[in-house]
Amino acid sequence: MVNVAATVWSNAERDPQRMAVRSGRGDLTYGELREASARVGGAVAAAGLRPGDRVVLIAPSIVEFPVLYLGLHAVGVSVITMNTMATAAEIGYVLDDAEASLVLAWHECDAAASAAAAERGTTFWRVEDGARFDADPLPAAHDHAPDDTAIILYTSGTTGRPKGVELTAANLIDTTDSFLPVLNLTAEDRFGTGLPLFHVYGQAVVMNTVLVTGASLSLLAPFEPTAMLEMVRRDRLTVLAGVPTMWNAMLHAATDAFGPSDFEQLRLATSGGASLPVEVMRAFRDRFGCTILEGYGLTESTGAATFNDINRPQKAGTVGPALPGTAIEVRDPLGAVVGPDVVGEVFLKGPTIMKGYRNRPDATAADLQDGWLKTGDLGRLDAEGYLSIVDRAKDLIIRGGYNVYPREVEEVLYEHPDVVEVAVVGVPDAHFGEEVAAVVALREGAELTGEELRSWAKVQLSAYKVPRLYQFVTTLPKGATGKILKREIDRDAIRTAE
Ligand code: ATP
Repeated sequence: MVNVAATVWSNAERDPQRMAVRSGRGDLTYGELREASARVGGAVAAAGLRPGDRVVLIAPSIVEFPVLYLGLHAVGVSVITMNTMATAAEIGYVLDDAEASLVLAWHECDAAASAAAAERGTTFWRVEDGARFDADPLPAAHDHAPDDTAIILYTSGTTGRPKGVELTAANLIDTTDSFLPVLNLTAEDRFGTGLPLFHVYGQAVVMNTVLVTGASLSLLAPFEPTAMLEMVRRDRLTVLAGVPTMWNAMLHAATDAFGPSDFEQLRLATSGGASLPVEVMRAFRDRFGCTILEGYGLTESTGAATFNDINRPQKAGTVGPALPGTAIEVRDPLGAVVGPDVVGEVFLKGPTIMKGYRNRPDATAADLQDGWLKTGDLGRLDAEGYLSIVDRAKDLIIRGGYNVYPREVEEVLYEHPDVVEVAVVGVPDAHFGEEVAAVVALREGAELTGEELRSWAKVQLSAYKVPRLYQFVTTLPKGATGKILKREIDRDAIRTAE
């Protein structure tokens, strides 16, 4: 049966008392998760929703999220999860594009959703604590055809209108299947995350994989580093999932209150979404005795493409080899596949690649060529098939005709003991076309000048890569997953900061 809800429900039949989801405000066993989600499914089916209909779900990362999510999957509708901070205009756009028939929104973040739904006459349900629905439980989950659209995730849309990435029932199961062996995940694991569940990483890679395995999932919303460390201790977590800014924040928040015994059961952490500075990985291992394994994926690949498999030698600075079933090609601008260690654009093919963009045949044709997904990321494969992401193609800086990969420069600046966060970006320059600039957040109390950082960078980097412009900030702009958002950095402000 191809339905993530059916698999999770079968775990409940085997062992209903097993812990499924935990958060500071309540826990659910697999039996309780099944019962509650079957009632959600019963209510949704009773309201007339049928397999293939579209339903928008807006909820934070709390135990009710999987209850609602699995209940909707059980009915067989296509689930569209959205950011809890989405505005009425953003939700309205999705309701129209997806022709959604129902919106479910958590009561603490339902104002925008309720306004957008009212404007269109779309059915709106406000979800209260516990997500209890007064309906007969759905007896069994819908049996999807593998190619049925199970979820639609709208990409943030750096250019133009957001695109709805259609992921199939098979994409979801293939994603969980590909992560299980590379993490050695078992039902005995206690997995924790502060990732938002509306995004592909928290949802398809973490939540689904953990619940399909029968392990327990501890949730934290919103992410806060000390609360995360406390959750590791409280729930004796064995695995963590996050993005690089989270590891960094945990490192800087860890005080003497957290001793080695708090982390001894922690066997690994998975990192993705943005490049993991090698320095952060080292410091995390030194402080917590826990290895961070890096992977790479996109919404269009159900979050799954590569991972530093726990059973193979790990190579720091790479995102690992392809996940089982996925193929990678690195191509030059003319489309020819390049050899080992040559930088080009990364293309992916395999069972986790999307069906396409909803209502966007042109965009689908541009990004899916003969089943190969064009990622927009620049990378290189080594002779053993390990992929390194050098940067997003659009973040590449061209200074005086030379290519500067911001990530390489960021790695060097992260090695400075006073640097907490850094983003290297290109700033328009009359002479060089672009100039290299660094936006830096320093450790509390630290004082550092641009000149000092320039001297630091000069030791390791060729002159043309060394940032000439520096801006010091208290924190960098971040998106919902905690990724640093370079597009929100004000290039003009950097110029005047010098
Ligand atoms: P956009 O804002 O363009 O929609 P997004 O960040 O919202 O992008 P996602 O699908 O969440 O879209 O992110 C996918 C992108 O994240 C990849 O294309 C890649 O650029 C980046 N990424 C993911 N994992 C890594 C990694 N381990 N190292 C470097 N970059 C990564």
